Amino acid sequence: MTLERSESLIIIKGVPAQVCTDCGEYYLDEDVASQVYAQAEDSVRRHAEVEILHYAA
Ligand SMILES: [Zn+2]
Repeated sequence: MTLERSESLIIIKGVPAQVCTDCGEYYLDEDVASQVYAQAEDSVRRHAEVEILHYAA
């Protein structure tokens, strides 16, 4: 998944997304989402322009 935060573009690979059984859309469960945002926040703090991360549970 890709996140844009201020000047940073953060690509996070291997995020375990769920698929909605009703409409087929992808979504993240709460624990996964907060982990993803915590990892992204670290890149934003370091003012990374583009960063490719791997999801770490
Ligand atoms: Zn749905």
